[in-house]
Amino acid sequence: MTKTNIAVLGAQWGDEGKGKIVDMLTPHFAAVARYQGGHNAGHTVYVDGKKFVLHLIPSGILHAGVTCVIGNGVVIDPQALFKEVDELRQLGIDVDGRLMVSEKAHIILPYHRELDVLSEARRGERKIGTTSRGIGPAYEDKIGRRGIRVCDLLGDRNALAEEVRENVSARNRIIRESTLDWKPLFDQVVADGERMRPWVGDVSLFLHRLIKEGKPVMFEGAQATLLDIDHGTYPFVTSSNASVGGVCTGLGLPPRAIGGVLGVAKAYTTRVGEGPLPTELSGELADRLRESGQEYGASTGRPRRCGWFDAVVVRYSARINGLDAVALTKLDVLDGLPEVLICTGYRTSSGTITEFPADLRLLAGAEAIYERMPGWTSPTKGATRFEDLPGEAQRYVRKLEELTGVACAIISTGSDRRETIVKGGSLVESWLEGVPG
Ligand code: GDP
Repeated sequence: MTKTNIAVLGAQWGDEGKGKIVDMLTPHFAAVARYQGGHNAGHTVYVDGKKFVLHLIPSGILHAGVTCVIGNGVVIDPQALFKEVDELRQLGIDVDGRLMVSEKAHIILPYHRELDVLSEARRGERKIGTTSRGIGPAYEDKIGRRGIRVCDLLGDRNALAEEVRENVSARNRIIRESTLDWKPLFDQVVADGERMRPWVGDVSLFLHRLIKEGKPVMFEGAQATLLDIDHGTYPFVTSSNASVGGVCTGLGLPPRAIGGVLGVAKAYTTRVGEGPLPTELSGELADRLRESGQEYGASTGRPRRCGWFDAVVVRYSARINGLDAVALTKLDVLDGLPEVLICTGYRTSSGTITEFPADLRLLAGAEAIYERMPGWTSPTKGATRFEDLPGEAQRYVRKLEELTGVACAIISTGSDRRETIVKGGSLVESWLEGVPG
């Protein structure tokens, strides 16, 4: 096994194909740990033609012998967790003894979903485009210091009853159309806690010990850097720190536990929901990318907005996360295009900018500045060696490396595990050195 603990996270607006990259790297790690987000994430993984969609449990669960951890930074909808566990069981994968849930993780209560819908409706035109799964309101309660944690479900019942009662009465003050009774909700969360009990533990301590024993851990991010609550395109963001800082706070680990950071970026750009997307395409070209890339949300089925690769965005991500390498995915989706464009800056009303701005109003009327490159006619699909890529595709990848300042150590050329290039001499190769895949 590798000796390095690495973080694998999204370098754009999510859906970069983190699932496949995490899945293919998993055999080199003893544990995979999710550090933030909720069941709004959707990782699609294909193994021998079988499709798996995971929302909450790290996709490492598909590999026998790997422990999967859900950190304190994650918010958990118990029903969503049980559904996933049941589905995995039906596929012959037993999570018992291999799943650990942080006792400090916060719980999504059923009415958080209602609050999510309500808050989106109130925003009207300024809606964020959330998945309406109650994730934002659960994080609001966490920061508001009234959240209910997994350990609360397993502790003093009277204290829990008090907390549930107070939360439900706060809910009833916000949603006036209906009154919720606290008792059935209390009974429900008690039952949920009991079902979770065998999986619950001290994640920080568990990972600390594992790492001390020299067993490597992969930290798995959900969503992505441009959706990070602090560094993303606020307010069109998720409610947690998807960037590398979330690893420490979301798992209870020190920065030095992170030995490497791998950013996953698509060879073009997509985003779901609202908010700026400076390289967004419309018409035939957008449809072409959406269809060949199957750009529809894994969780919601929503069509994704598509655009050219934005080097400003990925360079920004490299800075925020200290990316050591990029895993470039879906290169094959660009196969057959006569020309490929890369955004290098934005022309705005206040002049040209080449660093990603905080104030999104700057991007509203901005025009992307492109570097144009010839496309390739022979396919990259399924390639496993960089030398086998058409010359134009090699030049495209090299140009992305030059413009983002980060090497593409992994290049994904299809959705299957095998359709992958690990560049010889790259940092990722040294992380995985001497390890049978
Ligand atoms: P994630 O949340 O970042 O894992 O992304 P999604 O699972 O929502 O989307 C990734 C989709 O792209 C999945 O259906 C993958 O099977 C697929 N995928 C991943 N890598 C590649 C690739 O290199 N080429 C193609 N064509 N599809 C890929």
